[in-house]
Amino acid sequence: MPDADGKGTVPVSATRRHAYLLVLVVAPPIVLAAGAVVAWGRGVGPLDVTLALVMYTISIFGISVGYHRMLTHRSFRCVRPVRIALALCGGLALQGPASLWVAEHRRHHKYADRPGDPHSPWAFGDGRRALLRGLLHAQIGWFYTARRRSSRAHWVPDLLADRDIRRLDAAYPLVVAASFLLPAAAGGLLSWSWHGFWSALFWAGLVRYALVHHATWSVNSIAHSFGDRAYATRDRSTDVRWVAMLTFGEGWHNWHHAEPTCARHGALTGQIDASAALIRALERLGWAHDVRWPDPARLAARRLPPPAS
Ligand SMILES: [Zn+2]
Ligand SMILES: [Zn+2]
Repeated sequence: MPDADGKGTVPVSATRRHAYLLVLVVAPPIVLAAGAVVAWGRGVGPLDVTLALVMYTISIFGISVGYHRMLTHRSFRCVRPVRIALALCGGLALQGPASLWVAEHRRHHKYADRPGDPHSPWAFGDGRRALLRGLLHAQIGWFYTARRRSSRAHWVPDLLADRDIRRLDAAYPLVVAASFLLPAAAGGLLSWSWHGFWSALFWAGLVRYALVHHATWSVNSIAHSFGDRAYATRDRSTDVRWVAMLTFGEGWHNWHHAEPTCARHGALTGQIDASAALIRALERLGWAHDVRWPDPARLAARRLPPPAS
């Protein structure tokens, strides 16, 4: 099913697929396992925890507010320096250059949970074994198994015509280096030691990258499989609180599929959406404008009746 619809896709070379296998599929679980072993044995110092949290926050906001709500769905517009900064933060999450990420995600919305969706957990059917296989596929497997990836010319002509995004995409290898070296340098300088450098490189560089990846990919797998559905959509998107907490609001995925251009994903009472709060703050500062906030009439119109208990 994943490759059933070839429209808007281009073939991927075997070399590139093997690079994805290493960087996106194999390395993060190994890094997380190593982190668990080291933390269990020696613990983690407060400086490393602080740097990792700062980098995690920058990375997740970069993906949710920068790559996703701003570039993919155009939920708001903002002044040029902020737009560049948000797109740069998205790059620091190490999930690929903006144009590639956005192309895959726009295709996901077009075909969500149907043939053509690059990463539906329902790609192999509805049974328990099929769903287990589908969850692995949606989380990381598709990076390697997909023989075709979304065509940038087809899905993101707006970004290819954007000089700032083109420059950031071209500088992506530098952004990757900065994502590891900035926290490492901060750790080295603040502790004034090489040990601090290497330790921060491990926790705020490697472990943080693995955590950010799996938090984001949980939206593709968990928030299309388990959880609540308050709104009518053609796909199987759901709301999952713990995924929303880890991803600063992205786990409120059901309303997002109902109204993809809306700047707020957690539209129900009690659904904390830190990314929407950041966009609101940018709007109050005068740095963001034309924000697409939820329309109460549309929210009410799409609302499903509560499940019978
Ligand atoms: Zn989705
Ligand atoms: Zn989306």
